[in-house]
Amino acid sequence: MKNVASSGTGLLFGPGVDPAENAARFSVSALGIQFQGLHAALHVPAWSAVRWRRGGFNDTQLLVEWTTPAGEFSLSVGDVASQGALLAHLPSAPSITTRPSQTTRAVSSTVIVVLVLLPIVVIGLLLWQADRLIDWAVSNIPVETEIRLGREAFAQQRQGLAILEDHPGLPMLRQIGARLTQGSPYPYEFHIARDEAINAFAMPGGFVVVHTGLLASADTAEELAAVVAHEVQHVERRHGLRGLVHAAGWRAVLSLVLGNTGGSIAGSWVENLGDLRFSRSQETDADLEGVKALVRADIDPQGMVAFFSRLAKDPSHLPALLSSHPASTERMTAVRAALPKDRAYPPLPYDYQRLRGAAK
Ligand SMILES: [Zn+2]
Repeated sequence: MKNVASSGTGLLFGPGVDPAENAARFSVSALGIQFQGLHAALHVPAWSAVRWRRGGFNDTQLLVEWTTPAGEFSLSVGDVASQGALLAHLPSAPSITTRPSQTTRAVSSTVIVVLVLLPIVVIGLLLWQADRLIDWAVSNIPVETEIRLGREAFAQQRQGLAILEDHPGLPMLRQIGARLTQGSPYPYEFHIARDEAINAFAMPGGFVVVHTGLLASADTAEELAAVVAHEVQHVERRHGLRGLVHAAGWRAVLSLVLGNTGGSIAGSWVENLGDLRFSRSQETDADLEGVKALVRADIDPQGMVAFFSRLAKDPSHLPALLSSHPASTERMTAVRAALPKDRAYPPLPYDYQRLRGAAK
């Protein structure tokens, strides 16, 4: 017998569960899942009554769902030990999955074919085409919905950030940001957060945060502009939104497309932000579109190659920016190839050494 944990933690969603207090502890036994603490009064779902599947970005979450008279509940579990506790009792194969098409006995009635077989085929096609459906869903989520969700998510995120309203580099960052976002449907906000980690990130809807550590490690305003251009393209190309749609599940997708933003969607949105990793192709996309945006803004895009290459070369600090944005050789080769030849750019009009401030 393997030594398996008999308790764990996860995030609980369902009727009556406050999204702000949905962190749940639970223990497992032969009877089912018993919640503790705040959620101890909850109905104990028996193993026979629960369904499970993999979800979240890259399928790293274990999602357990069950139905009670009060409605649908789900438990999202991220850490491996807690997942192990559940998997020790769950059937070995996910119970929510594509069903193989039923035995196609000689059914002569067209009505039965239409009523029974067609939905199965459609569901099969939907699951098979999940990637394209996500693209479809993402392209159908209204910008206003995305902005509203992004704003809500950023409001939560910023509680954990030391936003500096009076950093000397803030006007420069905002001016560069404005040049790189001309004509965008998103109402961008550019912020500086006190954080030594060399990093920057953008949230859906146009919320861009640059760490003081990144400002300090860039050598020129062009290098800063390159990072900003890259982050902005994650927003413009809806990479974060795509990841969230993937992670949030179909119920959320449907209500996003319809323009609703319920509490539980915002909850799972924020919950998943920490896990969002962009794919290699999305990173390259953000680089190449970022280069184009820099050129349009008449800012030398060479800063992108300079900054990422310099960071990658220095093994003394493994910058957070590179763990979320691996600076592969292919990536920089692609950027170099995308740089327009024989074009000159006026230097950005900032005393960068003064404005970048100290790292802390
Ligand atoms: Zn990126």
